[in-house]
Amino acid sequence: MKLELNNVVKSYGKKPAVNGLSIVFEPGIYGILGPNGAGKSTTMRMVCTVEKPDKGSITYNGSDIYAMGGEYRDKIGYVPQKAGYYPDYTAGMFLKYIAGLKGIENEEKVIKGCLEVVNLWDVRDKKLRGFSGGMKQRVNIAQALINNPGILILDEPTVGLDPDERMSFKNLISSFAEEKIIIFATHIVSDVEDIAGRVLILDKGTIKVNEETVNLINNAEVKVWECNLKDIKEINFIKDNYKTSKIHYHNGTADIRVISDVKPCENAVLVQAGLEEIYKGFIN
Ligand code: ADP
Repeated sequence: MKLELNNVVKSYGKKPAVNGLSIVFEPGIYGILGPNGAGKSTTMRMVCTVEKPDKGSITYNGSDIYAMGGEYRDKIGYVPQKAGYYPDYTAGMFLKYIAGLKGIENEEKVIKGCLEVVNLWDVRDKKLRGFSGGMKQRVNIAQALINNPGILILDEPTVGLDPDERMSFKNLISSFAEEKIIIFATHIVSDVEDIAGRVLILDKGTIKVNEETVNLINNAEVKVWECNLKDIKEINFIKDNYKTSKIHYHNGTADIRVISDVKPCENAVLVQAGLEEIYKGFIN
């Protein structure tokens, strides 16, 4: 299974939202990172066939996805950032409704399977209005799984989840990695670090990075320093003049991680860069 973007360009007005993207997706988890306006949503919308490139092509196993039409859409599942809910529907009713829309055969069995995967079968008769953010997100994933898609597309899937819900979301998504192409866009770097086999960093419509997550971390060229500072003036100087990532205050001092080619202060020690810092190093 292969989904391929070849030199894709998409503009709104004069400004390209996406400018010459070439990406090959095969089964596995891809985390798309990028600041607001980088072109993440535009890319996702094109992969879902909601929008069409102005130039370039998107193919699924060699066939143009727009020419494939419904045959391609049957193979994708989309988890939007904010899904519309019918608060008075139960989880079971909601899935039945989606199954009807998608023309799913053998729906009872399929719905049971999807709700079991996301661990909501036991609460299938409860109304959605009483569900927590994480439970709603799992309903959202269950509806996307109903056609057993080979490609699962998730837009900012962990926004609003508490740490436990975030963990169970990550475990659930990881369990699909063998057999599905999973593409998720996020601005939460730690989500990508934990589950994505490959990281794509988009900025201003182009790809800055397309690399296996472990390689990206192990071969990081960005230099990260840890400084321990006591004086507030020194702390402010570093914050104002360098790119910093984490600051940890304790016992009246601050440990500051600084991204810099040169040593930022007297007691600075070089440390291993994390994905957050590598990401910051690529974004201006
Ligand atoms: P991201 O999802 O990374 O925040 P988007 O793909 O939403 O980025 O946006 C990329 C660029 O395209 C931005 O400059 C945005 O303003 C512009 N854009 C996106 N969608 C539209 C649209 N429907 N109409 C006009 N401009 C758009």
